[in-house]
Amino acid sequence: MNEYLEQYIELQKQFQETKGNPNSVRALYAFKEKLEQSEDKQAKEVLVSVYDLLDFKKDAYELLCRIGNRSDKKTLKRLGTLREYAEKWGNHYALLKPKTPEEKQREKERQAQMGLPAFRYHPDPLETRAFEESEEDVVCDCCGKTTRIYYRSPFYSVKEIAYLCPACIASGKAALKFDGEFQDEYSVDDGVDDPDKLDELIHRTPGYHGWQQEYWRAHCGDYCAFLGYVGARELRALGVLEEVIDDPAWDDEQKEMIQESVNGGHLQCYLFQCLHCGKHLVWMDLD
Ligand SMILES: [Zn+2]
Ligand SMILES: [Zn+2]
Repeated sequence: MNEYLEQYIELQKQFQETKGNPNSVRALYAFKEKLEQSEDKQAKEVLVSVYDLLDFKKDAYELLCRIGNRSDKKTLKRLGTLREYAEKWGNHYALLKPKTPEEKQREKERQAQMGLPAFRYHPDPLETRAFEESEEDVVCDCCGKTTRIYYRSPFYSVKEIAYLCPACIASGKAALKFDGEFQDEYSVDDGVDDPDKLDELIHRTPGYHGWQQEYWRAHCGDYCAFLGYVGARELRALGVLEEVIDDPAWDDEQKEMIQESVNGGHLQCYLFQCLHCGKHLVWMDLD
């Protein structure tokens, strides 16, 4: 057995035994980066398995297409399976690497350089794909200026809007001009008394895509930050599964559903974090 395969088996064991805790996912990511830099054929063969395990299905398929021996029956079978997943999922449901505080800070700086305003209730709108980066300039329907970053999540207004720039959302101009909302004001947790906070959430914060009506969680008297789309596996990788289950909003049956949820599956969870005490909470719905 070659050294790459040996190391892979060890890391995979760790990943499975800890049910994918943050350290095991970080270790797999470090290994993935090492293999990506190597020119060794054996390293690339193992890299297919690493991509597959982390659900980079498109990358796994494309790499195996490049290096796989098509006269080998096992390889052909694997290519067939991977192709199906790659077409259905792409890299869309890849398990994200848990970020260190330094990485989070760097991401913030990158966003500021791109001219993305800071959204308190939606801190990583590029990562959650509330905004998309386009290759070419598009024109914002609100201010008429060109932008490369445009809004891709729900905006409830009478008029059909093609493009909104981040600045027009942050300033409240878009909501005012089109009499629209990014989040339904009645689909939010109780317990926030300050009307300015509700105004910021529904008129000046990018929304997210739910299977059904989007709902916004609150904690410690304020709305929470929306962090992204998750299932049990993502919650384990972030080390917050226990924390989100410890929530009076859920009965025992619902707690079990959260523990079995799959990102992109029939039961989708949406992750939030309290801006004051740091507690993680989820919302969930069915397709
Ligand atoms: Zn604009
Ligand atoms: Zn709190």
